[in-house]
Amino acid sequence: RAVDWDAVWRDLQGLNVIASSNQRKQLSKDFYWYSPILTGQLAGCVADLVVKVSTEEDVRQAAAVAAKRKLPLTVRAGGTGNYGQCVPLSGGLVLDVTPMCRVLEICPGRVRVQAGARMHDIEAAVAETGQALRMWPSTWHVATIGGFIAGGFGGIGSIRHGILRDPGNLLRARVMTVEREPRVIELVGDEIQQVHHAYGTNGIILDVEVALSPAVDWVHCIALFPDYRQVMDFGVAASTPEIDLFLLSAVDARFSPYYASLGSHFPPDRHAMFMMAAPGSMPALHALAAAHGGRISLAGTEAELRAMGLPPAYECAYNHTTLQALKVDRTWTYLQVAYAQPFDPAVVDRHIAVFGDDVLQHHEFARAGGEYGTFAILLVRWKGEAHQYEVIREIESEGGCVVFNPHVVTIEDGGMKTIDTQQIEFKKKSDPMGLMNPGKTRGWTPDMAREA
Ligand code: FAD
Repeated sequence: RAVDWDAVWRDLQGLNVIASSNQRKQLSKDFYWYSPILTGQLAGCVADLVVKVSTEEDVRQAAAVAAKRKLPLTVRAGGTGNYGQCVPLSGGLVLDVTPMCRVLEICPGRVRVQAGARMHDIEAAVAETGQALRMWPSTWHVATIGGFIAGGFGGIGSIRHGILRDPGNLLRARVMTVEREPRVIELVGDEIQQVHHAYGTNGIILDVEVALSPAVDWVHCIALFPDYRQVMDFGVAASTPEIDLFLLSAVDARFSPYYASLGSHFPPDRHAMFMMAAPGSMPALHALAAAHGGRISLAGTEAELRAMGLPPAYECAYNHTTLQALKVDRTWTYLQVAYAQPFDPAVVDRHIAVFGDDVLQHHEFARAGGEYGTFAILLVRWKGEAHQYEVIREIESEGGCVVFNPHVVTIEDGGMKTIDTQQIEFKKKSDPMGLMNPGKTRGWTPDMAREA
């Protein structure tokens, strides 16, 4: 179907529209380059136009134009997603929401912000009231709160507060529909699950209210152990409410060359546990590390570490671990693994024996649904697509291991595994023409939209 671009331009009049080829290309990418498979698939996907929105009225105008002209519309925020989440598979409009970044209201225990606000900026604003965000991705200098809710799952802080999905973390969201006359729908509490991790396929998040906790001046520390099994056993033992942690991240000694700045704090013959701990929990952590054959090699606040030219613990954790390796050696890629709970570290011992130097271990300890658990973000040597899927099959052959495949673009083939019917029901209301981020959900294809 031919698009009358002159008419689209007329309809978009008054908005900040970007047509330059370089900028459109740049604003059509995210961190999908972690995956050589997605790199091949997504390289040519570029928006026809990018619209930068600063106000709710801007969003309304752009959404109405998309509906009137039947243009695909893909929301983009920080662009730090890993699976091509904000890449427009079918071109059309990319809606850049980062100018919508105002902090609207800070109250005891909660903050209301526009969706395009960067998470580190929100933290700085709420810090003035002695409060802090409950969780954030390690990309928080660039990532936005709307992108975290629509594309992420949890992160730094999840060992203390659970994942985004857990009750009490997300309080309220206002979402605009993509229709000729866009409407605003307000979601409260659990209703936010309808747009959480939906990759912006079912509404444009305008602003959100999230829970806050009293601020803590976390101690960033590293504990070193001779065996990876000792790190894992230490992690399981440290996963208890008695030790107040914000981050607990186990990293294989073979990552050490990618963390050169840490020097003897993370030498090549020692496996590491990167942590953020409350000052009052440090004596217990020292004792627990010693009981597991380890020792604390570094401890300090983020400011102290930065003054020494060292990274904070969170830049050695979650997908930053993969990033540090890829910065040095692009022959790596990665896989995410969920284990049967309660976690049995013997599974990791077997994987180390089976995969050898093809897979480097990295585990995160977090809470979800009120339970402590462990999952992995493994560094995997790229030896072609067939080998990658062999590794996936081998891991999944083990009782209860599930790979969240980062080499695919749909919500269902990646983490979610099944079609979330409540999200699809919401999509029918918020995006009845099926224009939002087409190709990212198997639950609602353009054919289905045409038939509806
Ligand atoms: P984008 O990448 O711009 O968008 C993500 C998705 O959300 C897209 O589908 C987009 O269409 C949609 N979207 C964005 N804004 C809106 C909106 N206002 N309305 C509707 N849809 C919207 N993720 C984690 O969960 N935890 C981590 O610990 C973590 N660590 C990471 C570390 C590294 C080094 C990297 C590269 C990525 C990591 N990620 C992590 C993934 C990503 O950084 C986060 O999920 C981040 O919060 C995404 O925010 P963003 O603003 O960059 O979103």
